[in-house]
Amino acid sequence: MQTKNVIIIGAGPAGLATAIELKKISRYNIIILEKNPEISYKICAGGIDPNVSEIGIPEKIIDRKFNKIKLFTAKQSITIQENKSIIATTNRKTLHEIMANRARKMGIKILFNKQVKEMDDNSVITSLGETFNFDYLVGADGSTSTVRKKIGIKTKKVLIAFQYIIPGEYSDIEFYIDFKKFGFSYAWIFPQKNVISVGTGYDSSLSNNNFKIKELRENFDSWCKEKFNLENAKFEAFSINYDYQGFEFGNIFLAGDAAGFASGLTGEGIKFAILSGKDIARKIVNSNYRCKEIENILKIKKRGENFIRFLSLNKTVGKITVELFAFFIQTPIGKKMSEKMF
Ligand SMILES: Cc1cc2nc3c(=O)[nH]c(=O)nc-3n(C[C@H](O)[C@H](O)[C@H](O)COP(=O)(O)OP(=O)(O)OC[C@H]3O[C@@H](n4cnc5c(N)ncnc54)[C@H](O)[C@@H]3O)c2cc1C
Repeated sequence: MQTKNVIIIGAGPAGLATAIELKKISRYNIIILEKNPEISYKICAGGIDPNVSEIGIPEKIIDRKFNKIKLFTAKQSITIQENKSIIATTNRKTLHEIMANRARKMGIKILFNKQVKEMDDNSVITSLGETFNFDYLVGADGSTSTVRKKIGIKTKKVLIAFQYIIPGEYSDIEFYIDFKKFGFSYAWIFPQKNVISVGTGYDSSLSNNNFKIKELRENFDSWCKEKFNLENAKFEAFSINYDYQGFEFGNIFLAGDAAGFASGLTGEGIKFAILSGKDIARKIVNSNYRCKEIENILKIKKRGENFIRFLSLNKTVGKITVELFAFFIQTPIGKKMSEKMF
């Protein structure tokens, strides 16, 4: 087999998953270029499907598992409970470190302080002027992807997500849907180990969104202050790109948030980053490979994003739909249907 050089930009879940899968199924030379000086934390609430082993990630990345979710709407307080875990939380530094250690053990090179600034069909150039040649390039460089920009893809559908990381413990995962406070978004409480992520998001691309981000931030802050002491809390914000416009561009691929694989409904992107990375690795090795994981991600995205766009068309209809949805989600059929959207 002729060996090929694969350069992966970004040591987040998408980049690391691509590299690990590629190493498993090929003898290609794989290098990950990461702009940070070491494996780093990523701003995130850390919510993840508890069945991580099904996507090849060890259970030890999980901070906490939950078999119930509390959902609060304007009219209802609902508890969805199962006799198995339905959601989990992870710390993003731990997740990256565990994946990176695995990659290194397999012989994958991760080079730090390599911020990719320029690229052409066969090479990338870092901010320090170093050149790396490739046969295949994978842009796994997140929501503000340089690779995506260099290919010429514009990004219009973006969530601005923000959160407080509050030291302490909290018992449950909670979601709050309240059009008056949070517009068409929702607020979350995700307890991790020793810290709690409390956050919300803003989508300026939604029609009829006469809610300004400043207003959302003010409402969110007063809501947070009613519930938590924010004295030692850290405020964080980052974008989530959900504007999918393809992942394969000749010998250049986009994985995870760089491609817009995150959900525009929930902002969830870790699992989709990992699964898209794995599929891209298989596609690089076999150009005839059918990317079933990506097909599935796109179906889930479409259902969720159609739903949020429908809610945003008319506030009254949106409010009624949310209440019906919250009631329906407690039924066995509702639970099954929601699995297809989240
Ligand atoms: C506030 C907030 C809360 C969230 N909560 C959740 C949640 O609960 N659950 C969930 O599933 N998702 C959540 N997400 C989304 C999730 O964080 C992303 O979908 C996920 O991180 C995407 O992984 P990725 O590997 O594609 O990109 P990233 O994790 O962003 O990794 C990209 C990597 O590329 C590197 N990089 C970037 N540019 C360059 C460059 N030019 N050169 C070299 N390296 C570069 C970065 O340093 C980084 O290491 C949240 C996001 C935010 C902002």
